Amino acid sequence: MPPTTRAYFDYNASAALRPNARAIMCDAMDITSNPSSIHADGRLGRKYIETARCAIGDTLDVSPNQIIFTSGATEANNTILKGFAGKRILVSATEHLSVLESGVPVTSIPVDENGIIKLDEFENLLRAGETALVSVMHVNNETGVIQPITDIAAMAHKYGALFHCDAVQAYGRIPFTRESINADFTTISAHKIGGPMGAGAIIFKPQTTVPVLLHGGGHERRQRAGTENFMAIAGFGAASADAVHQIPEFQKLSVWRDAIETKLIADGCILFGKNAPRVSNTICFAHPTKDSQTMLMAFDMNGISLSSGSACSSGTIKPSHVLNAMGAPPAIINNALRFSMGWNTTQNDIDLFLKIWDKLRV
Ligand code: PMP
Repeated sequence: MPPTTRAYFDYNASAALRPNARAIMCDAMDITSNPSSIHADGRLGRKYIETARCAIGDTLDVSPNQIIFTSGATEANNTILKGFAGKRILVSATEHLSVLESGVPVTSIPVDENGIIKLDEFENLLRAGETALVSVMHVNNETGVIQPITDIAAMAHKYGALFHCDAVQAYGRIPFTRESINADFTTISAHKIGGPMGAGAIIFKPQTTVPVLLHGGGHERRQRAGTENFMAIAGFGAASADAVHQIPEFQKLSVWRDAIETKLIADGCILFGKNAPRVSNTICFAHPTKDSQTMLMAFDMNGISLSSGSACSSGTIKPSHVLNAMGAPPAIINNALRFSMGWNTTQNDIDLFLKIWDKLRV
């Protein structure tokens, strides 16, 4: 019999939809509109987009006209990286694959055993040749490790490079603004903060030319052609306001995280990134002997959703490039699991996880 109770610990893959995001999307779904049409129905759809743009602008302290909506963070990251094709681009070795494998050659900046960029090696790379773009994520999706992003931005700018920050896993989790991280381009995504899939954004510094990926229409001030998904964008706006206002609540997840980590360490697990600053919701760990696929399936059958440290693509399991860059041995990477909580995680979820862990760990 499948378990009747389930607990979801895969917020870094996608977060539970927030009630206010759901409510505004339900409203928007009742409207027939192409937001580019100039008649009253068109203007109704447009209003959802511009309301969301203002809400997101408020959360990052930018003017609404510094925001370009995209279909998600993958498109936003591809837009920036492809815009610098043919030029020298430096990216951290632990970036998301939408940066590492955008189709544009990049030079990788090494990280230490905690996943933090090696600043001296970064500077050597900047000295070695003229660099057009540096792309470093704020928070890593697998480990939750927070990069010293202001130092990285300052270093990139010192050598004349523009700075792109994939802030998907930082937005709504730790406080920051466009200016505080001093990024020329910032990427965010709706479904990681309790909005829907299919909406993301590029935030840019005033007077910065933003690359264009999709051509063939005047949408988004000619920056991104294609009819806007106004329903998803409406949900994105509502989720962003709630997520950013509730950051103090989100940070309290660290109480549960610390309690679980203490237990995992006592049971012989290895924690990744444990000596670096990390967001409150993520634990990346390896069981001393059991491999992640076996554990993942056993957890699943017992009502727990979490993620492995390896990505499964086209039927083959690829070991995590993040843990590999951090110097973890293959045998340990093979056992890596990612546990990630979010706005809707409850004490009952945590109790269920600990109960199932005790059953499976031996
Ligand atoms: N960057 C990071 C750090 C991510 O975690 C993700 C989602 N796994 C993405 C980019 C891609 O986001 P999206 O699903 O919106 O394309």
